[in-house]
Order: sequence, then structure tokens, then C-alpha cells
Amino acid sequence: MEGLMVVFDFDKTIIDCDSDEWVVTELGFTPLFNKLLLVDTMPFNTIMDTLMKEMHKQGITIDDIVQVLKRVPIHPRVVPAIISAHAAGCDLRIVSDANTFFIETVLDHLGVKDYFSEINTNPGYVDQEGRLRILPLHDFTKSPHGCSNPCPPNMCKGLVIKRLLREQESKKIIYLGDGLGDYCPSLMLRENDHVMPRKNFPVYDLISRNPNLIKAKIHEWEDGRDLERVLLSIIQGIISIRDDSNVAQFFNHEILPVTTSHQALPQAPRIPV
Ligand SMILES: [Mg+2]
Ligand SMILES: [Zn+2]
Repeated sequence: MEGLMVVFDFDKTIIDCDSDEWVVTELGFTPLFNKLLLVDTMPFNTIMDTLMKEMHKQGITIDDIVQVLKRVPIHPRVVPAIISAHAAGCDLRIVSDANTFFIETVLDHLGVKDYFSEINTNPGYVDQEGRLRILPLHDFTKSPHGCSNPCPPNMCKGLVIKRLLREQESKKIIYLGDGLGDYCPSLMLRENDHVMPRKNFPVYDLISRNPNLIKAKIHEWEDGRDLERVLLSIIQGIISIRDDSNVAQFFNHEILPVTTSHQALPQAPRIPV
């Protein structure tokens, strides 16, 4: 359907783990990773680039990385949810702090890459020496994004959403995410948009502290089955409001109603700052 955009985070939203951690763990680089985390003040994104350099030095090939990415855990209902949302005519996009190489490899393997019209993430590419480079989306050394929300220095997802709101003003947005970096874009959404924070994950906890700061309608979800049910229910609701009689054909199973009010979230005690 024209006029509806679904924006997905990638790690722990589309896939059921963090792709950076998955690659590092599966290739046996956790000790070095932990060491870099301890001794360095580099953002995660820069640590990953450093790790890729080290992996390359130690003989890990691009194909080794691809094979590991093909085994990434994903809930079996997520791909059907993506396909249904696309079939309903939604414009699907990704906003992620992973990188283009990991995301495109996984989506390609799952057979859903072409369903997405845009992937906003850190650039990842294979250089002439066959080493995977992972660069920051924002060059934080030259031009910091200056956002005061909990966004990593290499990426403010709120800025991406701001641009999408400017370019695609008439489209309603459904935003799905789990992490701290998904809080900033959630704050940007408008009254008629929808945000789907993953229950008991950092963005959910942050939203729960003061749901009134969020203008969009809030719908929690726990796992891939929930993601599918909640997402398709929102889409179905929007389409039926617009009285599109073709809606039924996109949904071949019963979709249960979802909560749409701020009251659906438990009000966590305010934490003094
Ligand atoms: Mg995530
Ligand atoms: Zn931000």
C-alpha cells in the first residue's frame, strides 16, 4: 500500500542476535574483542573494523565471514512477516548500526534483500587485499552528529528518520527496534506513526520510563511470532481505515488485536538523574 513505510532495525529485531557479536564469537575472536572493549575508547563500529583487520591477518577469509553470517539465528516468522508487509505494498527500509556487508549478506541469503528499498547503515566493503572494512556512517571526527540522545558517535538513527520524514512526509511510519540507538528515532515519530519496541530490551525500558515523550502509538513485541502478529495487525488496521477492500488477500491467517495506547506499557518508576 502506498503511504506506509516500515523501518526495521536489524540486530535483535530482524535477526535474533547481534551480528557483530555473532561473527566475532563464531570465528573465535571473543578474547581479542573483549580486550579491545576494555582498553579502547573507540566506538563499537571502529572496534569491528580493527577486528576485521586482525582476522584478515590471521587468515580468516571473506568466505569464512559469509558462511558464519549464513548461519545467523532468526525466528522463523520474521521472513514471512517481511514478505507479507511487502505484499501489502509497504515501503520497507532498514536503519541499523551493523554494516552493509553483514546486512546484505544475511538478507540475500534469506531471499528478502530486494524487498527493501533502502538500507541505512555503516558502510562495509571488501578492499583490494580481501579485507572487510567497516566504516562509520557519520564521520564523528570531522562532523559529530551532535545528538544528545543515547546514539553512538558513528550513527544517529534519529537523523535518518528526520530525513525520511522530510522526503516522505505523507507516509505513515512503523518503526521496529530493540536497542538504545532506537530511542532517538522513536522520539522523532509523529502522532499517526507507530513504534514497536522489543519488550524488556533497552529501547523498551527507556520508553517505559516516560511513554508520554513518544508521540507515536506504542506496540510492544517479544519474539518473531509477536513481531509478525503485531506488525501485520497495525498494517491491516491502517489499510482497513483507508477502506482498501483488497486487504484480505495479503493476510492468510487470523491476526489478533494489539494494544495501541500508552497505558499498555507498565509505568516504571522514575529514575532521578
Ligand atoms: Mg538492534
Ligand atoms: Zn540521535
